[in-house]
Amino acid sequence: MPVDPALDDFENLLSDSALGELVEVTLRPLGPNTYRARSEDGWVVFSRSAADGAWVFEELEVGGRNPLGDQATDRFLGHAHERSMRFPHRSTNAYPHAYDSVAQFFDARYAPDLLVTHTAAHFTGGYLGQHGSLGTVQARAPFLASGAGVRQLGVVDRATRVVNIAPTIAALMGLDPNPAATGPTGAPRPGAFLARQDGDTEWDILTGESAGHVVVFLLDGCNANLLNDVIDAGEAPNMARLLGTGTMFGRGSIASLPTATLANHTTAITGAHPGHSGILHNNWIEPGATEPVDLLSLGGMFTASQHLAAGVETIFEAVHRSRPGAFNAATFEYCDRGADFSSFELVRSGRQDTLPDLDSVDHLSAEHASFGDLYRFISRVDHQSTTHLLECWNGAHGDRLPDLSWCSLALTDEAGHHSGPHGEGARAAVRDSDARIGDVLEAVERAGVFDDSAFLVIADHGMEQADPDLDRTWDSELASLGVPYSEVGGGFIYLGVD
Ligand SMILES: [Zn+2]
Repeated sequence: MPVDPALDDFENLLSDSALGELVEVTLRPLGPNTYRARSEDGWVVFSRSAADGAWVFEELEVGGRNPLGDQATDRFLGHAHERSMRFPHRSTNAYPHAYDSVAQFFDARYAPDLLVTHTAAHFTGGYLGQHGSLGTVQARAPFLASGAGVRQLGVVDRATRVVNIAPTIAALMGLDPNPAATGPTGAPRPGAFLARQDGDTEWDILTGESAGHVVVFLLDGCNANLLNDVIDAGEAPNMARLLGTGTMFGRGSIASLPTATLANHTTAITGAHPGHSGILHNNWIEPGATEPVDLLSLGGMFTASQHLAAGVETIFEAVHRSRPGAFNAATFEYCDRGADFSSFELVRSGRQDTLPDLDSVDHLSAEHASFGDLYRFISRVDHQSTTHLLECWNGAHGDRLPDLSWCSLALTDEAGHHSGPHGEGARAAVRDSDARIGDVLEAVERAGVFDDSAFLVIADHGMEQADPDLDRTWDSELASLGVPYSEVGGGFIYLGVD
């Protein structure tokens, strides 16, 4: 591949100790299936090769401390422990599945020349809560499953991955394999459920019986340790009820790189990593384009699913393949292709352009005034998301009860950014979300199918407390190189574009 000689200058500058407080690691491909990760105190060159449909990784060269050498999944477990270890230095952090996560990222045809990830402490964009990097706390989302077809194992001492969610739902619903499925290497994958299935089914938590209905609650950006703490404290009775009869991965669910919203919503719904799904991040620059794609803008958000890559199947589409006449609901979910009811389709088709008034919002924290205007705005969004799903369960769109319900709730992310995952706003957001989950559980009970339904509580990525004293950027250093470049999405560096 043609490499701009200036790329070395960017990599050298960004991995220099002068920026070591801000930059955790720089990542770039060196050639097909070969990658380099560098930080101020060392580097690794690693390669991947295909064997039996899976990738095998090999360290070709290590200098100093391997910045991705520690890939443990059990670092910083427990809310109090995480608080006591905030702003972890790179030498104490861990990077679960780092080689796999980095390699899939650069499979995207519009991946940047260089990916710069932030240190745990780096405070950017004015937010106390941060995510996007490979470090454990930013990557770790919660995963709780309960109900029909799910074993009652309590908290199990291991992790899963966000890319495993769709294959696990498919197995839970007893769906047929996709006869044309391909796996992580692009080779055929007999028995896989999704057309492009990078992830694996978590068979160990399933009983083997099929659930007639599955309801997924995606608590965007919810810190896994915080969720567990709120449940343990008795402040989330509905999720406690689910945990009482279900299974939670105690080390969480590890997001794929970048540990960001659009990337991992799509990964959760397709079983394909961001580098393969067509939706690499919230922002990127297409080859030859001068303006970035922006899927968090009002214009981009509602049509995000149009970016799905060819050969990628959503879990909603997989349900239809196995259950003719199925009814799937996706409320406030970006990746809604194949959903029969979609909140975003209402917006796209011009049938909805307002949100409920604040006065009509149920389960709004009594302390909302102290959490900022966005807490109230996103509470209106989440109330609408819940209301849309309740309408589906109450027969407003036909007699068939939803086969798969996917309810995305955004308040946990907004409050986590604003107050940090250890702040009162983030905690209140989990409580409010739990009450909204409770409304849906009641609707499923009223419909008479509670015992034939399974419930998942997941997130797309984690949330980490940043250090507000560490708020400078690397912009002036990069500008000093005098080379045209664009940075989008907080660390995607494209050379020759400005
Ligand atoms: Zn998110």
